[in-house]
Amino acid sequence: MLSRLFLLALALTVKICAAPNPPQTHFRGESVTTAKGSCGACISALEVGKRSSWVSPNIFIRELIMACQRSGQTTPDVCEGLFKEQGPVLAEVIKHMDVTHFDGYLFCASVLGACDYPAIRPFHLEFAKPKPANATLTRPPSGRNFTVVHLSDWHFDPEYTPGSEAACDKPLCCRSDSRSSSTADPPPTNITRPANPWGDYACDAPLSLHESLLSFLANNLTTLPSFAILTGDIPPHNIWQTLPISATHRTEQIAYNLLRRYFGPPDESLLGVPLYPTIGNHEVAPANLYPPHGMENPKLPGGDASWLYNSLAKSWKPWLGGRAANQVMRNGGSYAVKVADKLRLVSLNTNFCYVNNWWLFKDTNDTVGFTPKIPHRSCLVNYPTSITKQDPNNILAWLIHQLQLAEDAGDRVWIIGHHPPGVPDCFHEYSARFSKIVERYAPHVIAGNFMGHTHKDEFEIFYQDGIQDADHAISVAYIAPSVTPYRWTNPGFRYLCFQLVVWISTIVYRCR
Ligand SMILES: [Zn+2]
Ligand SMILES: [Zn+2]
Repeated sequence: MLSRLFLLALALTVKICAAPNPPQTHFRGESVTTAKGSCGACISALEVGKRSSWVSPNIFIRELIMACQRSGQTTPDVCEGLFKEQGPVLAEVIKHMDVTHFDGYLFCASVLGACDYPAIRPFHLEFAKPKPANATLTRPPSGRNFTVVHLSDWHFDPEYTPGSEAACDKPLCCRSDSRSSSTADPPPTNITRPANPWGDYACDAPLSLHESLLSFLANNLTTLPSFAILTGDIPPHNIWQTLPISATHRTEQIAYNLLRRYFGPPDESLLGVPLYPTIGNHEVAPANLYPPHGMENPKLPGGDASWLYNSLAKSWKPWLGGRAANQVMRNGGSYAVKVADKLRLVSLNTNFCYVNNWWLFKDTNDTVGFTPKIPHRSCLVNYPTSITKQDPNNILAWLIHQLQLAEDAGDRVWIIGHHPPGVPDCFHEYSARFSKIVERYAPHVIAGNFMGHTHKDEFEIFYQDGIQDADHAISVAYIAPSVTPYRWTNPGFRYLCFQLVVWISTIVYRCR
């Protein structure tokens, strides 16, 4: 039994907790090519895991910890913390997975790269109205420019310690207990690469880096932005020690206290403009685990994210206002807000497309409806449609609803979210449906999509009817570089210049 679980633990450890040295730029591609032949082994490892978790979730978790420790991929305490935090939900989900059919193949394809993706299941997106025949950009540019700052993947590490070991044996370094993998000597007697006061490529960001960035914004931008967006991931990558919840909550509070010094009403902040945030996979504790409505289990760590939605509603209220802050609480973290004349912003909790959110593998073939916990007129959980678990939390149905409201009002919309559709970390079915929604509402309603998570300076193009040429390009997803240098990237942010109707330019500022 242990040898098959060994495979599972090894693959999971590498996938969600890979060591930062050397750079992992091509990790996923290598994983796919080397592991494709292991599809059968992956499915049978899941079968073993399922049997083990039915016998006892504690035994399942202990076996994963032992297998991880035997693999030597990381240190014993990381293995223990990682599977103690992630294991209970993993055990609960694997118990209810159909491991030899769609669920299992989807898991082995999307998480471990060991199988081909199963075919996309038929799904009917309900649009209230057909796309207007003249759905093009007919209005001339307004001539009035506005600028926006796009920040992403903040990853503030409150434990960052200048002078500590930056080439360490754990997935995240530059902390007081970091020690070199090349020596058994305890710190600080043998530091092979001292952590720089401003950050290191194997570490998350110290407060000094964030303060420096915000101070640059306040003192150097040629035009004050109209507003800023922050596309998720405030806490650091130490995902083996996110509990107790108060630890992750405290990190977020420190970051939001700093952000509120710069963003907010003119007489109460240095920049005097609002910040519109969205939720990343690291905001919750344990990391990545956002249960869809109807699956909550408060007895499990990772079984209830309502503490986070309540906390974010409070932190974001000065920027969003009361109505949108209420939506954050009631709507699983998503909200819609008017940010300028004829311009709306829809912030999506995209963790319901994230492949490391184990909850999404539970009963994925099931078509049981969700019961709204807190009925509310503007909430996605109350949106009347054919509710299936193929659209967890009805997030896409709610997005369609918001876009239709904007179309009816003649407004345009920016969509912000953490996970870009179309990347390997986002489910292929969600990505396909998201593209269909963009095809319906772009370019006349959707003016842009703004994402993060990859930590890279990238963009995606959406095409009408999947025809990939210039005539059929209808929308763009702007994926901002991360503020954290983790892993092996220079910190950066985007400064975007728009008119009401057209995009003009993007400047990417990078530290060198
Ligand atoms: Zn990130
Ligand atoms: Zn992320």
